[in-house]
Amino acid sequence: MQLHYIANESVPSSSGRTLPVLDPSDGQAFDELQRGNAADIDAAVRAARDCFETVWQKQSAAERGRLLYKLSQKIAEHTDELALLEQRDCGKPVKQARADALALVRYFEFYAGASDKLHGETIPYQDGYSVFTWREPHGVTGHIIPWNYPMQIFGRSVGGALAAGNVCVVKPSEDACLSLIRVAQLAAEVGFPPGAINIVTGFGHEVGDALARHPGIDHISFTGSPKVGTLIQQVAAERHCPVTLELGGKSPQIIFADADLGAAIPVLINAIVQNAGQTCSAGSRVLVEREIYELLLERLGQAFEALRVGPAAMDLDVGPLIRQTQQQRVWDFLSDAQHAGIPMVAQGVVVDEAPQTGFYQAPTLLRDVPVTHRLAQEEVFGPVLAAMSFRDEDEAVAQANATQFGLVAGIWTKDGARQFRMARQVKSGQVFVNNYGAGGGVELPFGGVKSSGYGREKGFEALYGFTTLKTVAVRHG
Ligand code: NAD
Repeated sequence: MQLHYIANESVPSSSGRTLPVLDPSDGQAFDELQRGNAADIDAAVRAARDCFETVWQKQSAAERGRLLYKLSQKIAEHTDELALLEQRDCGKPVKQARADALALVRYFEFYAGASDKLHGETIPYQDGYSVFTWREPHGVTGHIIPWNYPMQIFGRSVGGALAAGNVCVVKPSEDACLSLIRVAQLAAEVGFPPGAINIVTGFGHEVGDALARHPGIDHISFTGSPKVGTLIQQVAAERHCPVTLELGGKSPQIIFADADLGAAIPVLINAIVQNAGQTCSAGSRVLVEREIYELLLERLGQAFEALRVGPAAMDLDVGPLIRQTQQQRVWDFLSDAQHAGIPMVAQGVVVDEAPQTGFYQAPTLLRDVPVTHRLAQEEVFGPVLAAMSFRDEDEAVAQANATQFGLVAGIWTKDGARQFRMARQVKSGQVFVNNYGAGGGVELPFGGVKSSGYGREKGFEALYGFTTLKTVAVRHG
């Protein structure tokens, strides 16, 4: 039985209710979570406020950094345990679950080092004045986290907030809580004071909503769907609470005829099948210059057919989707594609060992997807790649920008001038040239434009969002 973690103690929900924890690999329940409520959120916010005022804000930035570093090392000692929890809870193949745990280590290492490097500025002003700025923490920050990369998103969001001097109340997804509860326990073991990191589990419309509405929350970091992002924004607006929104994407991979296809193809595949396509920055559209369209589709098709899907413990190319409703969502997209006459090029294979009760989907490559079709416009959040062709640079830019999203884009060409022209014109928060995702890039600011959200997490940039700037003007004559 999993409990909330508030003020360094494992506590049950005051609701007395629980939720089952399902293993996506076989669809069976293997544990229980607390179904939290507004009273639990209130207890966590009070604990956090007390910690902030009595302990955390009195600590030096260097002391905070040391504590974050200790936590990074503690997590490093527990990567196998955390990866196993994530594998069971989220259906992540072993390699992916381990990669997420190692990324969590890296986030805390990075923000440990960043903690005492954040500072304000002095500003030249009129004679007789000295003017400077302080970067101050918001205080108690709320973190609403999705199920697709719980450890990575906790690392970038909570790591950055703590480094900047805040304390945190975290609401993980109801589908992915186990690793984060364990990390909060590890934080207590290395000396984080009670109330610095609090975890309250439960449904979004109950616990998440209560967190976003709580007057004691000074900043909200939300990572999740555009639909819920809108709700968070509306709720936060009522009390003018600052928000960072990390939302969805429909990211294009743009392949010109001069691209190194040998280098591109494995990256294109990984960008859509990693985590079974349940990645905000998944490269879910491939835009291909007409003269190599058939050639690339043939090679991509062969690669798709070689992909194997199965239980997380088998550590194949692709694991299950998170839950049955997600599986149904992917099926709905594929059935729409079939009705619209969109040709399927290739599919991977779900292995015989995969239980019928698990949530599997074979990776699927579709071609000639019209730019206006929902497959080219909406997040599938499954291993489905939509291919289309373009004539020239102008058409490539138009297609790349023809969605409501703007999270990440990949550009594949050897032409240096074109690399820069394209990178300038594509509307997205990150652009990768002849690579995609840069292997995670803890150091690289991340976030979207348009309906992909606003604000930046990851990298040093995140610390600006987790602080507020105070200008001090001293008149001394
Ligand atoms: P979701 O929006 O359904 O849920 C995200 C979180 O919000 C969960 O913890 C959920 O319980 C909570 N929530 C749900 N309803 C709420 C409400 N009314 N009030 C407050 N909280 C509420 O998203 P999901 O299905 O968990 O995750 C997938 C989505 O997340 C995709 O759209 C994906 O692109 C996005 N995502 C974005 C990034 C990024 O960095 N841009 C990263 C990962 C995932």
